[in-house]
Formats: sequence, structure tokens, C-alpha cells
Amino acid sequence: MEMSARFLLKAIAAALFACVVLTVSPLTAAQAAPPHLAVLEGTLLSTSADCPMVRVHDKDQPLTAYTTQLYHTLQDKRLANREVRLEGVMKSDGTFQVERLYTVKDGRLYRVRYFCKVCNIVALEPGNCVCCQQPTELQEIPVTGDAN
Ligand SMILES: [Zn+2]
Repeated sequence: MEMSARFLLKAIAAALFACVVLTVSPLTAAQAAPPHLAVLEGTLLSTSADCPMVRVHDKDQPLTAYTTQLYHTLQDKRLANREVRLEGVMKSDGTFQVERLYTVKDGRLYRVRYFCKVCNIVALEPGNCVCCQQPTELQEIPVTGDAN
């Protein structure tokens, strides 16, 4: 009787522990890259060449992008020399194809977007607003666990 009570307590403790792990993991999962994507963290370089680069541990990595909008964002001079987190795929030609770009400030991730205050609309890449042709503003939106 004594033995089975102890076993029951252990089982309850194990079940509680499992619950804690299950409730914590979705939060950490939201911050992690999808499994098929590799992560590069480094400094986005301003180069005179067309090809954007990221410097990771003194190594310059040439970048391509999944979309032209993202490619133009990587070339945005306002993001030059900024600490970034890039999620994407290493290609056989040695380039890294970026699928997601985040800026990093004080260890926190920010999503980059372009915004026209006049028209109150969001653009996907740097340049003038498609509506009023005024330059859009680069904005960085903090990434929260549940918004991802
Ligand atoms: Zn506009």
C-alpha cells in the first residue's frame, strides 16, 4: 500500500512536469526558426556591389532572397551595419537565400516594414509609396511570442 502511494505521487509529479513542459514549449517555439530554415546572425554590410552581404564572425556571406522585396530590403542603406538575424537556406552556389529578416536591438528581434504616414499603408520594400509617391518610412516592429 505504502509503495503504490509513492508510485502514484511520482506519477502525478511526472504528469505535472510534462504539463509544465508542454505549456512552456509553444512560447519558445514561436521564437525559433521553422525547422527547414538555417539561422545566420551577424552584421548586414553596406557594399558598393549589388550583392548584399552579412558578416558573421569575420566571414562575409553573400546573400540572395526568397522575394525581390526582401532582396531590396537587404540592400537598404538604412539597415547597413545593423545587427540582424537571417533565416533561410544555404544554397549550393555558396549564397544564403534569406526567407526572413529581423533586426536585433538589445537581444530583441524586430520585424522590418515600410510605412507611408500620408496614406496610412504598409509597403513590402523600400522606395516611394505606390499611392502618393512620397518616400516611405522604415519601421521596426518588436516581435512578440504570440504575434509570430
Ligand atoms: Zn503614400
